[in-house]
Amino acid sequence: MSAKEIVQRARTAFLKGTTKSLDFRQKQLEALLRFYKENTSKMLTVLDKDLRKSKQESYLTEINYLINDLEGVIAEYRDWAKPSKPEKPLVNAMDDVQIISEPYGVALIIGAWNYPLQLSLLPLAGAIAAGNCAIVKPSEVSPETANFIKENLPKYLDNECYHVYLGGVAETTELLKERFDYIFYTGSTNVGRIVHAAANKYLTPVTLELGGKSPVFLDDDVDMTIATKRILWGKCVNAGQTCIAPDYLLCSKQASDRFVAEGKKILAEWYGNSIKDSPDLCRIVNENHFKRVTKLLKNANIAIGGEFDSNEKFISPTVVVDVKPDDALMQEEIFGPILPIITVSDVSEAIAFINKGEKPLALYVFSNDNKKVKSILSQVSAGGVCVNDTIMHLTVESLPFGGVGSSGMGAYHGKSTFDTFSHKKSTMIRSLNKFGEMLMTSRYPPYTEKKMKF
Ligand code: NAD
Repeated sequence: MSAKEIVQRARTAFLKGTTKSLDFRQKQLEALLRFYKENTSKMLTVLDKDLRKSKQESYLTEINYLINDLEGVIAEYRDWAKPSKPEKPLVNAMDDVQIISEPYGVALIIGAWNYPLQLSLLPLAGAIAAGNCAIVKPSEVSPETANFIKENLPKYLDNECYHVYLGGVAETTELLKERFDYIFYTGSTNVGRIVHAAANKYLTPVTLELGGKSPVFLDDDVDMTIATKRILWGKCVNAGQTCIAPDYLLCSKQASDRFVAEGKKILAEWYGNSIKDSPDLCRIVNENHFKRVTKLLKNANIAIGGEFDSNEKFISPTVVVDVKPDDALMQEEIFGPILPIITVSDVSEAIAFINKGEKPLALYVFSNDNKKVKSILSQVSAGGVCVNDTIMHLTVESLPFGGVGSSGMGAYHGKSTFDTFSHKKSTMIRSLNKFGEMLMTSRYPPYTEKKMKF
């Protein structure tokens, strides 16, 4: 089916009103849950083929993450869907004032390759719960997972309301010519601009989940073993191919030396002496990305790691020291297991450094000093912040997840996903009774001084 036909089919289904029914949504959400639970081993296989994701990471960051989210959605969406009753002024005492969550219509969900299940399917659950029809476009860069979704998801969901569309740039460009009622995009900031421009044609609302360089400020006063573990884990999970991976470290020279010493020990503990043989480190997704990431290491002062093997698209966790702001490593989001360290003299210099760049998707602060933490929180804008850990703020469902500025717009996770896919229709219901009308007569002409007093 062409892009046009798919969108038309979804629109026809939406206009029939099928997805407005909460019972229909329930059936679809339960079917989606069955899809996850009955296909776990296939999911492990495709994630292994695309990214050599270990079983544990696949469960933690994809399969269980999806299941937990969806179970939460199923338990709560009927409550979320109820009209809310905001406070109202005295003059509206006799009116019924409500905010009604209504589905936008046909939603397009474009996923990225780094968490190829989660980034396409978690928004889908929210779109279904909110009563939309949806078209999911997984990333072609993780082809095994994209094909798995295309082949298996339609066996579970209603085939008129929900569709999977595969393709790369050319196909997505075609798809974006169509009119959607909502577009939810995850991927790079540059493509985010293209999606935003396409949405603009029909003034389609968008959520853009983008990327950027997420900084870590590391204070001298921390327990360096714990801090190093948490930072390196954030960098090594999915081999650094995580939108909120710590991108670079800002700290004193002394903290940098201690971080490197701890880092060597910790990486040996985690991956053994021959890191390439460890089953626990993902590979870089494809040759282009492998070349892009390894190129960043040219002329770098490598304190840990630095090994790579193009046959396997393997890059060892690498820490680079003495990095300067105009080095290649600092010009783009790294999206690989490389951590540059820039030395700063104090927290103010770190804040000034971060604020010279674009607003990050995530900001990490490791410190025991509340004053420093507060000063960073109050002076740096970021999509989200995690103090004394990395990545883990994403697991708190009640925290909306999203970027700001060039790291994105809009947010999701938990109830926020439902809200993202719902238009909040402000509604006032008034009666036509004569008493109410009498109270309102001062608004009608002819206008007089006396009427103005009301
Ligand atoms: P990608 O190459 O998979 O692209 C993302 C999607 O955009 C894909 O579905 C792709 O087909 C489509 N696309 C690519 N080029 C296009 C074009 N010219 N026109 C229309 N569609 C196009 O992924 P990527 O962009 O390499 O993803 C990595 C980036 O995504 C990183 O910057 C990362 O930080 C960001 N990211 C953000 C989040 C988040 O939640 N904020 C999550 C994951 C990744």
